[in-house]
Amino acid sequence: MNKPKKRIAVMTSGGDSPGMNAAVRSIVRKGVNAGLAVFGVQRGYEGLIDGEFIEMGPRSVSDIIHRGGTLLKTARSQRFRTEEGREKAKEKLEKLCINGFLIIGGDGSFHGAHKLSKIWDGQVIGLPGTIDNDLYGTDLTIGFDTAVNTALYAIDHLRDTAEAHERFFIIELMGRHAGFISLMAAVSGGAEEVLIPETKTDLEAIARRMEAGLKRGKKSCMIVVAEGDECGGAYAAAQRLHELTGRDYKVCILGHVQRGGSPTSVDRVLASKLGGFAVDAFLEGHTDVMVGEVNGQCCFTPLKETWEKKKKLDSYLLDLAAVLAT
Ligand code: ATP
Repeated sequence: MNKPKKRIAVMTSGGDSPGMNAAVRSIVRKGVNAGLAVFGVQRGYEGLIDGEFIEMGPRSVSDIIHRGGTLLKTARSQRFRTEEGREKAKEKLEKLCINGFLIIGGDGSFHGAHKLSKIWDGQVIGLPGTIDNDLYGTDLTIGFDTAVNTALYAIDHLRDTAEAHERFFIIELMGRHAGFISLMAAVSGGAEEVLIPETKTDLEAIARRMEAGLKRGKKSCMIVVAEGDECGGAYAAAQRLHELTGRDYKVCILGHVQRGGSPTSVDRVLASKLGGFAVDAFLEGHTDVMVGEVNGQCCFTPLKETWEKKKKLDSYLLDLAAVLAT
């Protein structure tokens, strides 16, 4: 008699990020290729609690590698934060005889995944899927590169009009707790200043630098601020800079535009690689870990470390940004 196929389920959770679909595609095709039965869980932990599973095959992931969002949908789930909710989720996994559960999401999703691994016998494996890039254990998260490029596109557009009208712009980018998107977008967009939660923001010093720049012949300026910076965001910074200099600072809040769009090749390749590696991790018996890529090599990090250890911002780039803005 044939041995029953091992079963894995894949889910996207938390904020959507470009490249999640490419990761699902890779998991499904690699999983089927390895002789596994693969299921998709719809609507994140909400769908898991409600038992929203669909069986997936190579054709159910056709034509999605280039699409943003997530075909499995995603959600934030209050119920999964409770023991009762997690018990229900566990029952659903047991009922379908799932052996491995692969979660594509950010640190919140991993908190939940880690708790699930304590009460459920199957293997739990995380894939870093968040635009914020704030997870320890991987150089890049799936979606970060696309989000930076979307921000850069907006900065380039604003710069055209800033130059034409000799205006001062402040653009607010996503990042409640981390400045990775802002730093990369600011350096690649040639911004004069970047305000991020990881560093102290001194608006009086910024006002002085802006005025000095004008004296050196600058005609416009671009300030990038992460939404979580302690200055309170772009409107608060614009107000304070106006009080300090008398100048009008135009504000652009990029918002959810940064979450969507077709993933860049960097994100598609990363998602494909980590999807395949997550299936390998399942076959090798790993659990309660995140798969990531560091210095080009796939690796594992215990889920707990992905949020307990702090990923460092590139301090060299941060210092250089100030020099390049002169
Ligand atoms: P992003 O970085 O894009 O915001 P995320 O995965 O961090 O993604 P969250 O909304 O923080 O997004 O978490 C997703 C879901 O994970 C939550 O809606 C909740 O169901 C679950 N979750 C988050 N934190 C916990 C926790 N401490 N315990 C149990 N479940 C949690």
